[in-house]
Amino acid sequence: MRILVTNDDGVAAPGLWALVEELNRIAEVVVVVPDREQSGVGTAVSLHQPLRARPVRPLVTDVQTYVVEGTPADSVIIALRMLVKDNVDLLISGINEGSNLGNDVLISGTVGAAFQGYFHGLTSIAISVGSLEATHFDVAAKVGSFLAEQHAAGNLPQRVLLNVNLPDVPLEEITGIELTRLGERTFTDAVRMGQIKEGHDGKRSYYWILHSAPEWKKGEGTDIWALEQKKISITPLHSDLTSHEHSAPLEGVCSSVFQSITSASPA
Ligand code: MN
Repeated sequence: MRILVTNDDGVAAPGLWALVEELNRIAEVVVVVPDREQSGVGTAVSLHQPLRARPVRPLVTDVQTYVVEGTPADSVIIALRMLVKDNVDLLISGINEGSNLGNDVLISGTVGAAFQGYFHGLTSIAISVGSLEATHFDVAAKVGSFLAEQHAAGNLPQRVLLNVNLPDVPLEEITGIELTRLGERTFTDAVRMGQIKEGHDGKRSYYWILHSAPEWKKGEGTDIWALEQKKISITPLHSDLTSHEHSAPLEGVCSSVFQSITSASPA
């Protein structure tokens, strides 16, 4: 089995190397990661500049490692198209420092990289630990390698995307593992989320969108709930953002708009 490992925290992140060390025991690992931290860039792809990739010395012996001067999604694209080509059985992104829960999967670079693998038809797994100064990467690394073994044994569904989050606690304190759905921020938090600091750098004024601890709706069975219970959360994701519940009520609007277009007199 050959596993492509990537992340959004960059090549120096301790979570990356904890994961690589564990995966290296069971598979051939190739690391292709951004050369610096790229948290919060989601699925962004660089279209307006050339991308440079270069091999670097790995922190785990004999693991082929490249850095890309780009986003996590760029790293996966360059890895799959140019560096390791199609000889990849599985993609794992992480281990991220900080949880990627609920609506945040849409801005997460960790999940964004996993989406890029998924778009290429690969089974892809994003792994995050729920603390911005995470210290317990060992359990997350083991979960990654056990999931890889499940994949190798054919026990994962084809072309699945898993978003895995763990509480930042030692193994003894973990109370279980739960298959979850994405949680949601509360409405008040959605407003507060736009907490912005205004400042001046001596030359120009600026706005700074602040990183703040989100407030979540408490829903049993959500990823947020699982982490609060000190459980490991696994959420299967897909990329269909279609709001099926809104389709029927919008049909009338569509025909009205079309009618208005066709009956409007030409200028
Ligand atoms: Mn990150």
